[in-house]
Amino acid sequence: MWDSLVRATAYDGFIRVSAAVTTRMVEEARKRHESWPVATAALGRVMTGALLLTWGLKDTGSITLRVLGDGPLGGIIADADYKGEVRGYVQNPQQDLPLNEKGKLDVGTAVGKGALYVTKDIGLKEPYTGSVPLISGEIGEDIASYLFSSEQTPSLVALGVLVNPDLKVAASGGLIIQALPNAPEEILAKIEENIKDVKPISTLVKEGNGPKEIIKKFLPNTDIKILAEYPVCFKCKCNVERVKSVLLSLGKEELSDILKKEGKSQVRCHFCNEVYNFSKEDLEELITQLD
Ligand SMILES: [Zn+2]
Repeated sequence: MWDSLVRATAYDGFIRVSAAVTTRMVEEARKRHESWPVATAALGRVMTGALLLTWGLKDTGSITLRVLGDGPLGGIIADADYKGEVRGYVQNPQQDLPLNEKGKLDVGTAVGKGALYVTKDIGLKEPYTGSVPLISGEIGEDIASYLFSSEQTPSLVALGVLVNPDLKVAASGGLIIQALPNAPEEILAKIEENIKDVKPISTLVKEGNGPKEIIKKFLPNTDIKILAEYPVCFKCKCNVERVKSVLLSLGKEELSDILKKEGKSQVRCHFCNEVYNFSKEDLEELITQLD
């Protein structure tokens, strides 16, 4: 199944819900960063969370999540745009930890204590950034805490990544259910009652459920109104022109210094691990542009 995102409303518009299957997207991130299971799970959850939070973005808009914890993974950064293109990286991708007491990848310990920063760029001069302290480092409830503090709306956030013994991503997905401020209490109570029996989201994805089926499992007794459905993928925004402009921004003196000392330059993109090589001639050419 291809990765996709579905946005919908339910309970006469009092509830809005987004669900996504992100298995290929997270597997692409794993391959690029050669991450180990607990890092893959943490990065996959952050990337899927960023994707789900793009609700309401217009063209050019993007959401960046930064999870800055004191655990062995270091920082985890992901951004997602309105088209469903997501990229992300984790500072220390080759980390391993024992499973937690539930027998699951111990994302909370791997992330540690710290804060979640959410930056919303809607094309204005100054993007808006809000933050909350991490509750558990498991990402899902940290995002729910952010939504409650920034929008005062109760939310349910479920994020899950299942990693195979061969390190590949078996299943990944996420869902956010948000109640609008005037939603009647009994709707929330009903939803809470329903979700007790729902399987973990990564299991639902593994069983072949798409975003629509996942929404129906979480919200079984209501009319679901689908507002949007579109494919999502890992995609970085770097390209050779952007990397050149970064090199140019170093200035003539520093570039000449690199040319003299190294004779060439290699630039690696944090987000996607793509390597850009600049030969002696390339550097000379860039330097002449600065004359
Ligand atoms: Zn890149």
